[in-house]
Amino acid sequence: MGNSADSKIILITGASSGIGAATARRLAADGHHVVLGARRVDRLAALVDELRAAGGSADYHELDVTSRDSVLSFVERAHDRHGHIDVLVNNAGVMALSALDTLRVDEWDQMVEVNLRGTMYGIAAALPLMRARGTGHIVNIGSTAAYRVDPTAAIYCATKYAVRALTEGLRQESRDVRVTLVSPGYTHSELTERGGDPQVRAAARAAAEELGMPASAVADAIAFAIAQPDSVDVNEIIVRSTVQG
Ligand code: NDP
Repeated sequence: MGNSADSKIILITGASSGIGAATARRLAADGHHVVLGARRVDRLAALVDELRAAGGSADYHELDVTSRDSVLSFVERAHDRHGHIDVLVNNAGVMALSALDTLRVDEWDQMVEVNLRGTMYGIAAALPLMRARGTGHIVNIGSTAAYRVDPTAAIYCATKYAVRALTEGLRQESRDVRVTLVSPGYTHSELTERGGDPQVRAAARAAAEELGMPASAVADAIAFAIAQPDSVDVNEIIVRSTVQG
């Protein structure tokens, strides 16, 4: 697998867990070559072993999306190694929920750095290469939090509203590069395991467990957008479990 005419070179940020890892599994099973990025390289190495053992084609590189240099090196290394890149999935994200008046400003900064700036850096690294080739696809992971704000989620929602705006702006400017926003609802992952007010985090974790869908459902939506012909751009997909209001 990974070498047929329909096989694409697909870079996935935040591939060490949750939606990113599920997307790597789905796209590798579809015959694409996946390049995985995240900070926890032990997880990436184990996932690459798993994908190869299943007959897939994959490699990985350490990535911190808050560093423009790190994102550039992730994208350019894949480009040098494979000669081109077809798809970048800007998936890395963090969610630290808390009321604004608790002033967890370092966590606000982190959400802006990872969710928004990380996506911007991904576009900055991949777009020139795709434009030069006259084709490519940028898939940004939004959220249902890009459409509605809830208490304790103001900054997280602000980053996802911004990712949605950024994605729509890029789409409007693009004729050759396809641009897709995939916005999941509650999804089973590690998103609620780190950061935020501990009480709020526990409630969010319980909600995600009760109302969430498997990460593979989001991976399927991403795979659908990627599988369309080059002339067809799936602009937005919102996917959530039937029990989420
Ligand atoms: P996980 O916590 O399971 O995955 C988040 C991924 O982001 C990890 O692989 C993590 O890797 C990576 N990441 C975090 N910080 C950085 C960084 N600085 N540089 C590189 N990678 C980083 O959560 P999900 O799978 O749920 O999250 C994936 C995306 O889906 C996020 O954008 C999230 O906002 C979005 N989303 C999730 C929903 C949910 O309910 N789970 C709902 C809607 C949207 P590492 O720590 O190894 O660097």
